[in-house]
Amino acid sequence: MLLKFQCLSCGKTFIVEDLEVDESELSCPHCQQEVPVPECDEDEEE
Ligand SMILES: [Zn+2]
Repeated sequence: MLLKFQCLSCGKTFIVEDLEVDESELSCPHCQQEVPVPECDEDEEE
């Protein structure tokens, strides 16, 4: 399952496989800032 995140710092989106999401925060691949990981595992389309 792939999870889509949006960086709060640079506003870009990126995809991470849920298996890689093992911590409460990720680093944005674009700006290296930490991005909080939502705990829900359901689709969260806006
Ligand atoms: Zn970023």
